[in-house]
Amino acid sequence: MATGKINVSVENIFPLIKKFLYSDHEIFLRELISNATDATLKLKHLTSIGEAKVDYGNPMIEVKIDKEAKKIRITDQGIGMTEEEVKKYINEVAFSGAEEFIDKYKDAEKDSGIIGHFGLGFYSAFMVAEKVEIISKSFTDAPAIHWSCDGSPEFTIEKADKKDRGTEIILSIAEDSIEFLEDNKISELLTKYNKFMPIPIKFGTKTETLPKPEGAKEEDPAPTKEVDNIINNPHPAWTKKPSDLKEDDYKNFYRELYPMQFEEPLFHIHLNVDYPFNLTGILYFPKLTNDLSIQKDKIQLYQNQVFVTDNVEGIVPEFLTMLRGVIDSPDIPLNVSRSYLQADGAVKKISSYITRKVADKLSSLFKNNREDFEAKWNDIKIVIEYGMLSEDKFFEKANQFALYPTVDGKFYTYAELEEKVKDTQTDKDDKLVLLYASDKEQQHSYIEAAKAKGYEVLLLDSPIVSHLMQKLETSKEKLSFARVDADHLDNLIKKDETQISKLSDEEKEKLKTNIEEVLSDKGYTIQMEAMDSDSSPFIITEPEFMRRMKEMQQNGGGGMFGMGSMPEMYNLIVNTNNTLIGEILNTKTAKKRERLINQSLDLARLSKGLLKGEELTNFINRSYDMIK
Ligand code: ADP
Repeated sequence: MATGKINVSVENIFPLIKKFLYSDHEIFLRELISNATDATLKLKHLTSIGEAKVDYGNPMIEVKIDKEAKKIRITDQGIGMTEEEVKKYINEVAFSGAEEFIDKYKDAEKDSGIIGHFGLGFYSAFMVAEKVEIISKSFTDAPAIHWSCDGSPEFTIEKADKKDRGTEIILSIAEDSIEFLEDNKISELLTKYNKFMPIPIKFGTKTETLPKPEGAKEEDPAPTKEVDNIINNPHPAWTKKPSDLKEDDYKNFYRELYPMQFEEPLFHIHLNVDYPFNLTGILYFPKLTNDLSIQKDKIQLYQNQVFVTDNVEGIVPEFLTMLRGVIDSPDIPLNVSRSYLQADGAVKKISSYITRKVADKLSSLFKNNREDFEAKWNDIKIVIEYGMLSEDKFFEKANQFALYPTVDGKFYTYAELEEKVKDTQTDKDDKLVLLYASDKEQQHSYIEAAKAKGYEVLLLDSPIVSHLMQKLETSKEKLSFARVDADHLDNLIKKDETQISKLSDEEKEKLKTNIEEVLSDKGYTIQMEAMDSDSSPFIITEPEFMRRMKEMQQNGGGGMFGMGSMPEMYNLIVNTNNTLIGEILNTKTAKKRERLINQSLDLARLSKGLLKGEELTNFINRSYDMIK
């Protein structure tokens, strides 16, 4: 037996590793299985080029728990190591790698951390084990060896009698890590990190039901057989060529990724590049609701089929983190901090590639099957609108296929919409005015009024649409959006010159004074307008600008511009051609006039959804009295 001292500058890195990676001890298993996989794939390569004259066979990796002895064993049938190789790769490479890693990690400690704590490798075994042993037999004729180390820089190395090729790592689990001796725990970790690794991984056995032999009776139990329990799918869909996959394969893979997800994805995007970086993956568009927060962190990042993390922040642009699926790239630096990652050139390229692919896919869906695209619009619009807001490159592309639905269920692209309304919906400055509703029920009377005038009314109801409208307004020169209940009637749309006022200027003045007297303390800006006689006598509108400011403030921009809450500001438009208005004008007693004005105002407020609480109760009681 030989003993030796590992040459590292830190006397004992073991406690450091434990301290720095406290929350992530579980990655030891991923790291050791990755090594076992690499060793197996190396052998595959050597046999394929004729350098290893051994039978590759059907190798697998096995994980075994010995609860009584408090040991975990990880065995592979890969290339194995000779004594020299253990000395070199384990004593020197692995330990110096660990040391280097800790150095880096110390600096990044305050940062949001190193992604998936990649790169620690073999040494991560010491996060859970008080002693680590390696029994290895190289594929060459070299004798098997047994290496043992308790985490201090001292190790022992001796001959072993292992006959078959490969490596066995034996971890003597430390007292504070005995949770890893539970089958459930190991099972959970294997599913999390190793589900798609390229070499079959066995963990225990399972019972398989065989077909009943011929002539068996109904009540005879079906025969069973114990078989290896292979926990992974070594050939996941994203590693295959898109041309070899059918629609169902993509759906099945989605279910494999999210077994608890019952809803089907809307469509997928297969990513596949090998230059200037390497990246494969499949992204799915799920059905999205307006609650954005719960949909994040569903994309899984892999490196050569090894799970790394489901936090892809910085790699995938923010607006696409609502998608699902897998990204696999060996070119994403993982043993770096997130802030470094975001500044990394390769990662930026990856991020813009993904954005472009998503835009191209959406564009082709739109072109090839518009009907289907329209049907899905409501479920995908949030991602597209968010993307248009946050990524200028995406905005340019998405502008071709982003849809603007109307309250009547028609869908226009921006260009189509512009073409459709350019002659009817412009204001006095030739600005295009796009009318929209945000709530079909609540704004019903306004929608009807606008439609009666022949205007198109859009239905824009996603939570971020007001930001998008603002962006569109600044990017197009002559465009403004106005909600149907906004002050467009007087400001934005050309006045209907064909309407002749039934009232003289004098009468209008008198009426205005009358109304102002009654409503003096209610804060309305009163405007007299000659509209057709069917339109309501009183209509309340709210300046578009004020309302949008209020909305943005509510949506988290609290304290914006140092303001407390925005004041309520409404316009009261009086339709001078309505018969009721004529009646108000001609009423003899002040009392009755006041009653008519107040009742009409309340009806207008009711229609705008402004009448609430005690005022609503009073209104209802008053109305009953009137019809009694
Ligand atoms: P890395 O895998 O990143 O190179 P590790 O510290 O995990 O770093 O391992 C160091 C080296 O030890 C590996 O590069 C490999 O040569 C060798 N090694 C580790 N595990 C095995 C194994 N199961 N079979 C053969 N060689 C191994």
